[in-house]
Amino acid sequence: AAAHVPSTVHHIPPDKVCGRAKDVIRRLQKAGYEAYLVGGCVRDLLLGLVPKDFDIATSARPEEIRRLFNSCRLIGRRFRLAHIYYGRDYLEVATFRAPHDDSDDGGKVNDAGRIIHDNVYGTLDEDVWRRDFTINALFYNPISGELLDFVGGLEDLRHGKIRLIGDPEQRFREDPVRLLRAIRFAAKLGFEIEEYTRQPMTSLAILLEGVSSARLFDEIIKLLHSGDGLNTFRLLREYDLLQHLLPLTAESIEEDTSGNFERMVEMSLGNTDQRLREGKSVMPGFLYAVLLWHKVYLAAHNLEADGMPEIQALNVAATDALRDQVDFTAVPRRFSNITREIWALQSRFHYRDLRRASALLGNPRFRAAYDFLCLRAESGEPVQEEAEWWTAFQAAPHEEREALCKGV
Ligand code: ATP
Ligand code: MG
Repeated sequence: AAAHVPSTVHHIPPDKVCGRAKDVIRRLQKAGYEAYLVGGCVRDLLLGLVPKDFDIATSARPEEIRRLFNSCRLIGRRFRLAHIYYGRDYLEVATFRAPHDDSDDGGKVNDAGRIIHDNVYGTLDEDVWRRDFTINALFYNPISGELLDFVGGLEDLRHGKIRLIGDPEQRFREDPVRLLRAIRFAAKLGFEIEEYTRQPMTSLAILLEGVSSARLFDEIIKLLHSGDGLNTFRLLREYDLLQHLLPLTAESIEEDTSGNFERMVEMSLGNTDQRLREGKSVMPGFLYAVLLWHKVYLAAHNLEADGMPEIQALNVAATDALRDQVDFTAVPRRFSNITREIWALQSRFHYRDLRRASALLGNPRFRAAYDFLCLRAESGEPVQEEAEWWTAFQAAPHEEREALCKGV
């Protein structure tokens, strides 16, 4: 049975609820449907955080939602959702779904127990049980002010616990991405993964290799580019998940006994978190340049030792490393092209005559490549002198640049 928690107990500040979301919920309720805020926004409101988005769950079917709202678009085939538009922004409204087993035919589970189909509509009560963690399964009615807690989510929120609903091993098997989500929320919220949830995680880590690489790319970005990347990365290693997600990175850390590469990854993730805190942009292409650098660097070195010119060696090594990584997580071309450019430009930093150095400054990828060079230098690779020279060269007024080039 649901615990109906009144606002005198849960203290969600009504003015922190998005007005449009409230309007949509009111309209759905007036039309006779149940409608609630659900998931991350309820969790974040209870924690005093600012929700990223306000997701709505309702008893109305997608077609019924569309009939109520002019600006509604239905998306997704496997998992039909309604988007209600306000200019460029939209609110996501999902119909309650039921958890599935092999016996019903809308929701299908494959041999490994993995969900492959997800469109069985259900009741509110059922929708609760198909969610991942207790803290993500709270429903809030912003009209009545009542919070519905069927699973002890409020208590787990108070104690800082990430707890899967139901049998942890079964829930991880159904959808191995939940392994990553447990880590992500633990890092983001500073919560502890509850004992029974934690216990099977490492032994199930290999199931990540059966998840589509496109979905894993999205998860990688959420894990490492959401502001808590460094903590997340450490947890991924602690739970032995890293080797099934970024195997080249995990291997490189083991192989590089100097510790330079590990330092480079950690420093880069720390910088990324800092940039995000300052509201600056971050680039997936840069992230992958760091994560795969050790492999590329070593392979390029070997090719050069066999007589291949440096720039070509870097290109061949880049192609190999990206191809190996793509087996695990997709790397969309628009990002991997930047990754390649960052690596290729590392070889152009050697040329410090005025003509070539000036041309490099004008390269659209100079900044990223230079940041990458500095990261290499700071983490202990023997390129300090080069990095310092480029720092000075950029800062120097035009008339002093020639002298800098002559001084090399
Ligand atoms: P964030 O703040 O990162 O968006 P969130 O909790 O809103 O966190 P979403 O990925 O937006 O996460 O998902 C919304 C909700 O959908 C979750 O809170 C959870 O209830 C449910 N959910 C999402 N992914 C899964 C999953 N893999 N298995 C079960 N439930 C899920
Ligand atoms: Mg969300």
